[in-house]
Amino acid sequence: MTMIQTPMEKKMNKPGRSIWVFGDYRNYFQNRVTLQLLARARELAPEIGAQVCAVVFGSQVDEYVGEYIAHGAQTVYVADDPILKDYNIETYLVLVERLIRQYQPDIFLIGATDFGREFAPRIAKRLKTGLTADCIGLEINGDGLLVQIAPSFGGNLIATIITPETRPQMATVRPGTFKELPHDTGATGHIVPIPLPDDLPGERVRLVQSERKPPREQRIEDARIVICGGRGMGSKAKFRKLFEMARLMGAEVGATRPVVHSKWVDHDCLVGQAGKNIRPKILFSFGISGAIQHTAAIQDADLIIAVNKNPNAAMMKMADVAIVADASQFCSALIRELRKRIRE
Ligand SMILES: Cc1cc2nc3c(=O)[nH]c(=O)nc-3n(C[C@H](O)[C@H](O)[C@H](O)COP(=O)(O)OP(=O)(O)OC[C@H]3O[C@@H](n4cnc5c(N)ncnc54)[C@H](O)[C@@H]3O)c2cc1C
Repeated sequence: MTMIQTPMEKKMNKPGRSIWVFGDYRNYFQNRVTLQLLARARELAPEIGAQVCAVVFGSQVDEYVGEYIAHGAQTVYVADDPILKDYNIETYLVLVERLIRQYQPDIFLIGATDFGREFAPRIAKRLKTGLTADCIGLEINGDGLLVQIAPSFGGNLIATIITPETRPQMATVRPGTFKELPHDTGATGHIVPIPLPDDLPGERVRLVQSERKPPREQRIEDARIVICGGRGMGSKAKFRKLFEMARLMGAEVGATRPVVHSKWVDHDCLVGQAGKNIRPKILFSFGISGAIQHTAAIQDADLIIAVNKNPNAAMMKMADVAIVADASQFCSALIRELRKRIRE
């Protein structure tokens, strides 16, 4: 594999341009954000003549290195050592800072998971560079700068942010924002082993035990049909009807923030700025007003069917099919109809 370098960079022995993606492989089959970022990086890289690199820290991580190459990484920087088995913020920070100073990537992307939200700002602080958190889009502008698109001011504005002066340009990106590339078993990549420095800081925090939450059967981000309910469903008991409807349709249930705050459903179901981005083929929206913090996360749905008693609700304006009705009653009628058809 060849590094992309301008003749001047070659002369100065300066690394070529690159977009880096941090490999967050924890809970690999559920957490696909690294693969989604690699896919977007591959789309953006030709616009600035860059190559796409992944960075992986851990112990016995060959499997993930292979996965990242199969999903678009052209080079993978790998620090593989038993010391790195569990995520340790101080060790990881020292390593990543040194790597970035050595290889000078133009852009550094991390998933906006709990891990990324903790890790990324600390890296940015150490490198005295900018960071846009929780992006919902990434572009390259006419000057070759990364345009970082993120909700701002409590989600009332969508801001487009650039980092013209400092490097790398850093962003965390919400899971589900981009689509991963298909797994390419024939893909090849360059692997750069990173030796551990002797002066790594000692452990001040030690992981004693971790336990994985049982996964949902299907992830809402991947569901072809999503049924979202809002405060207009009326009560927790009425909201439960959406789960029955979802069962009959093979769909997943999503919810707005007031519903989650009222404890009608788990936080896992939250769709919006503070929750998940979804891109279903069909999205049902029951009793939802259509606040930007919610709709920013459903823009990629192919078909939206909204039910609301207020025809002027923003959600009704956004929908492809807008039905003026009581959400709970409409849901009961639909369930009856579905049951009839399934029996037929
Ligand atoms: C920083 C920040 C982050 C946020 N993040 C998120 C987020 O991630 N996700 C999110 O969803 N929200 C988020 N919010 C909250 C968001 O601004 C809205 O308050 C929320 O989306 C509204 O939820 P809702 O539509 O269920 O409720 P409401 O706004 O109260 O709307 C209820 C709707 O139901 C309709 N209705 C009422 N009764 C019936 C009935 N019987 N039948 C049919 N329709 C009926 C009403 O006409 C109305 O349109 C965030 C806010 C902030 C400030």
